[in-house]
Amino acid sequence: GNAARVQAVQQIVNRELMPPKAPSSLEAIWAENVFDLAKMQASLPKATFKSIKKTIVTGQKLDPSTADAVATAMRDWAMSKGALYYAHVFYPMTNMTAEKHDGFISVQDGKAIAEFSGKLLMQGEPDGSSFPNGGIRDTFEARGYTAWDVSSPAYIMDTDNGSTLCIPTVFLSWTGEALDKKVPLLRSIEAMNKAASKVLSLLGHKEIAPVNSSCGAEQEYFLIDSNFASQRPDMLLAGRTLFGKAPAKGQQFDDHYFGAIPERVQVFMQDVEEQLYKLGIPAKTRHNEVAPGQFEIAPIFEAANVASDHQQLIMTTLRHTAKKHGFICLLHEKPFAGINGSGKHVNWSVGNATQGNLLDPGDSPHENAQFLVFCGAVIRGVHKYGPLMRAAIANASNDHRLGANEAPPAIMSVYLGSQIEQVFDQIKNGSISESSKKGVMDLGVSVVPPLTKDAGDRNRTSPFAFTGNRFEFRAVGSSQSVSGPLIVLNTMLADSLEWIAGRLEAELANGDQNTAILTVLKEVMSLHGAVIFGGNGYSEEWHKMAVEERGLANLPTTADALPWLKHDSIKTLFSTTGVLTPVELESRFEVYAEQYILSIDVEAKLVESMSKTIVYPAAVEYLSKLSSTIRGLVDLGVSLEKDSAKKVADLTNALVASTDKLSAAIAKEDFGSTEEHMQYCAGTVRPLMDEVRASADALEAVVADDCWPLPTYQEMLFIK
Ligand code: ADP
Ligand code: MG
Repeated sequence: GNAARVQAVQQIVNRELMPPKAPSSLEAIWAENVFDLAKMQASLPKATFKSIKKTIVTGQKLDPSTADAVATAMRDWAMSKGALYYAHVFYPMTNMTAEKHDGFISVQDGKAIAEFSGKLLMQGEPDGSSFPNGGIRDTFEARGYTAWDVSSPAYIMDTDNGSTLCIPTVFLSWTGEALDKKVPLLRSIEAMNKAASKVLSLLGHKEIAPVNSSCGAEQEYFLIDSNFASQRPDMLLAGRTLFGKAPAKGQQFDDHYFGAIPERVQVFMQDVEEQLYKLGIPAKTRHNEVAPGQFEIAPIFEAANVASDHQQLIMTTLRHTAKKHGFICLLHEKPFAGINGSGKHVNWSVGNATQGNLLDPGDSPHENAQFLVFCGAVIRGVHKYGPLMRAAIANASNDHRLGANEAPPAIMSVYLGSQIEQVFDQIKNGSISESSKKGVMDLGVSVVPPLTKDAGDRNRTSPFAFTGNRFEFRAVGSSQSVSGPLIVLNTMLADSLEWIAGRLEAELANGDQNTAILTVLKEVMSLHGAVIFGGNGYSEEWHKMAVEERGLANLPTTADALPWLKHDSIKTLFSTTGVLTPVELESRFEVYAEQYILSIDVEAKLVESMSKTIVYPAAVEYLSKLSSTIRGLVDLGVSLEKDSAKKVADLTNALVASTDKLSAAIAKEDFGSTEEHMQYCAGTVRPLMDEVRASADALEAVVADDCWPLPTYQEMLFIK
């Protein structure tokens, strides 16, 4: 029956609103919970402060005496804010944030004292054995250690269980293998910095500050009342609905919906923002998402490493705060079939303090030339390593989005916008050098016209688009850590810049700078121009053309994408740049593949059990009511169309048959390789899950509402 559903609706309707907090002044709360440079300066002796500041800026090693002084100041500050514990926070390969908590307490001569030394700040030993490591620790050493990433500040997390001082750390094996997502991110920034500096120096710059990448990630999410979620095992365990008929009008409700954000959601958003401001995260919530119940939050861009830590904190804060407000926050890429999914646009650029944003076309001829070189490097990178970009965003949940008509396709291409695309076309066909005087190209303002920052020129169907002064990687999934994509973007850029540096150096020996740049870019275009695409990425024609004419890879599933991590070209890329050793790369393949197989297995078993224990009983209950009614009517000499009962019976039988097929499929255990197992999940298990769902959703359309136990799409998406 539907008693629980009805009760849930009543509870939601009668819920007392959490009173909105009086808004705090931004200046008063900004970074209040962060042990940032200002707080260090206030609490540390001058010399110590200078030393830690230098470490933060240059990324050098922290000396032990400074570490001790910083640890003491950090502890005093944290305890003054009520923290009794500290935690080394790290980022395992699972997209999650992990923490190892310890008390400051230490007992000396029977007295409790608060202890926190430089050593404890700098290094921890989590019981990491429960984190997937892809075989690394079997081969090397059983445990790993965490170490403070000084470039990311410590902060205090307030939860219902008290406050904790959190220290962002790297997570390594004792033999130095990366076990997390932060180590390779830091290495990728270093590799990119090295290559970019080389190119800048060849372009004639004398003073070159360290080059870093920036990231601003737009996070989409759904909010569903927890009264509904608690009645849906699929939502609780898989983070998405495995059954559910799309509401008759689905997204056409948009216009009405956005007019009125439920007050509850506004109170929630304000709460989230305030916590993030206290953590020094410059976030802004937005309400303009496509689906009902869907929202977005985006911070102002920051250095990639810090942005990545902050992005993890945003996901954590969204989840925790939702609970507090009686919601469940779904970060899944496709919580509702037939309803727009959630992505995470990763806006990425590179730059430094001396030359500024290197992906900004700028105003001067010299800036234009520099921009074209860096943009050319990106084009080459996407063409050479597109499948790696696809692999970096591959997981079971994002597969639901990529390739559907709402999200970028599973084919990696670059959208440049018509103006920049034209410039590169001219470079390719030589018309720039021909048209200019003296046979020498003037990479001047006339070449790159001032960009109109017109939103209309944005191609929403591209997985990777230039948006005026940065690239936007749109194919990233809403539940994913941004580190993976950033590692790949930085690393492939490093590789391309190294290549360009080599080519430029050779050409500069023969001629002037403009000719050298033109020659190299022309080469880039003739080798890699095929990856540039400005048309409709959703169209059938593109899918055909991309593969058949342009030779680009279309990798629709994770099973197709992940094996690319084993390709020689990818191994070489990561080892020459020093970002991942072959062993580390192999371990990543193992971990990601295992997670893919595991998540499909969990979902398939859930489909099986929900079909048998929830959907089937509901169908039978209705069928029994219906048949006794039909029989009763016959006694009265009245008849009812018998087809209605037959239809329900047929669908129920189809449900049973497809569920049996799925059960048999899940039972298979013998696989020749991980790759084969992944393909089996993608090609056999998943379609069978869809088959079960099709019968169940058809039943939902005919079974009487008062027999249907699962909260419906209509209810979950519209009742707040
Ligand atoms: P959209 O129109 O796609 O919603 P916004 O202009 O709001 O985009 O910006 C989206 C994100 O891009 C924000 O996080 C913003 O800070 C970030 N962003 C802006 N400029 C840059 C840049 N140069 N490098 C990296 N990220 C940037
Ligand atoms: Mg965007």
